Amino acid sequence: MDYAATVIKQAEIDKYLSGGADFIDDAAIVRALESGKNPDPKRVRDILAKSLSIETLSMDETATLLNVSVPELLREMFSAAAQVKRKVYDNRVVTFAPLYCSNLCANNCAYCGFRSSNTVEKRRMLSAGEVKKEVEILAGKIGHKRLIMVYGEHPSTGADYIAETMQAAYSVKVPVKSGRGEIRRVNINAAPMSVADYKKVKAAGLGTFQVFQETYHRETYAKLHPANTVKGNFRWRLYAQHRAQEAGIDDVAIGALFGLYDWRFEVMGLLSHAHAMEKQFGIGPHTVSFPRIEPACNTPFATRTGHEVSDEDFKPLGCGLRLAIPYAGMIVTCRERPAMIREVIPMCTQRDASSRIGIGAYSDRDGGQETERQQFMLSDSRSLDEVIRELASMGYITSFCTAGYRCGRTGDHIMKMLRSGREGRFCKLNAILTFREWLDDFASPETKRIGDELIAKELSEVKTRMPGEFTDEMWTTLNDYYRRVASGERDLCF
Ligand code: SAM
Ligand code: SF4
Repeated sequence: MDYAATVIKQAEIDKYLSGGADFIDDAAIVRALESGKNPDPKRVRDILAKSLSIETLSMDETATLLNVSVPELLREMFSAAAQVKRKVYDNRVVTFAPLYCSNLCANNCAYCGFRSSNTVEKRRMLSAGEVKKEVEILAGKIGHKRLIMVYGEHPSTGADYIAETMQAAYSVKVPVKSGRGEIRRVNINAAPMSVADYKKVKAAGLGTFQVFQETYHRETYAKLHPANTVKGNFRWRLYAQHRAQEAGIDDVAIGALFGLYDWRFEVMGLLSHAHAMEKQFGIGPHTVSFPRIEPACNTPFATRTGHEVSDEDFKPLGCGLRLAIPYAGMIVTCRERPAMIREVIPMCTQRDASSRIGIGAYSDRDGGQETERQQFMLSDSRSLDEVIRELASMGYITSFCTAGYRCGRTGDHIMKMLRSGREGRFCKLNAILTFREWLDDFASPETKRIGDELIAKELSEVKTRMPGEFTDEMWTTLNDYYRRVASGERDLCF
């Protein structure tokens, strides 16, 4: 039996179809985008108001926003997008690091350096021991608390390997100034799995399961993903998040690889995905990613797709997503240049930093970033310390909070909290506590100085937002926890 046939469980697709159709209605997307042309400013402003009340937008509403081109209206959209982010998540930005575990891949995606036909790529899968070495650097030297572990799709790196490497990451405890460096949340970006396999990775302590549809445009999808590969099956991928939710994984993440097809169509595809998840499970995506395609080793297609997203379009694109799915976290990555990240960070909730995407690249400082060991090239190679300093100087507090997951604020429960703006309060308090930890354990003197000033500002802001948003009890607990963290206690959260 060929590999694809051993992986894909047709019944796990069919059960979600409606009259044989999936939730991507190409014709409806094209129609909505067409009828949203030349939007009336009054209608645009009404839609912004709806998004500001943290309601998911309809296809027509989103199509209207995606057609805005008048500079003044665009500025209003950017401002509303930043307000939505602040309302739901306050001014915190969660940071994480990618950990690439294996570049073995049986698929042949035209844009990816890991594709099976790329003979130049140096293949390698990390052993559990090698994963631990990587994590010793990430958690012990840099100070990360969250990882996204990334895997190609290959018979040798299925759910058992993923679970084993996740457990290896969690097992690392490195003594640092106070307490220990450790990973408190492992998310994964991996190929779609069956319900049974999802259960295995959930049992290994999975935080969020992330997979990108790449393109929601079927024809383009078929061109870029050969039919005889697992990834060639559009619907197996389309329902990856549904199966994960069925397996009990509450936090699932969606994304598209921008630059493969028309960006407006892809935003509408992501929105259709969020609608389908909300309809089926009452829970939309935990985060949405909007990566742009980057050059990759021996991969000419990646630099001439014919649908490249310009810098000019990137911000309205992110803004459309932010406003259409207002409760979702949004992730920007080191694929983007620092200047572009600064532009979109007001609407984003997460970013990576000090990222290395070669296999084994954190512990092998010399050879790890060879182009033949990477999936694509990164544009922001700054250290976590530099990134945190920049964020702090822009008024954003870096959060290492992993509490949502561990305190049961996941799934259905967190959706209600996010929509009502109540989660933002916890985000702020936990950001203060985890930022204090990081500043004391890992910061350079200059970053610590700027960080201390920011924390003082944050504490006084909490005080001024009492008793409306923060209760006396929260204030007392915050002060108690803060004192304890500052004197070396670790991992206290709301
Ligand atoms: N192999 C799994 C899959 O394809 O879902 C998961 C890991 S894959 C390494 C992670 C993501 O990298 C892909 O979903 C794709 O969106 C992104 N990617 C692939 N090639 C890229 C490129 N040239 N530039 C930017 N992102 C790329
Ligand atoms: Fe393999 Fe994922 Fe790259 Fe496609 S995108 S070649 S599945 S690693």
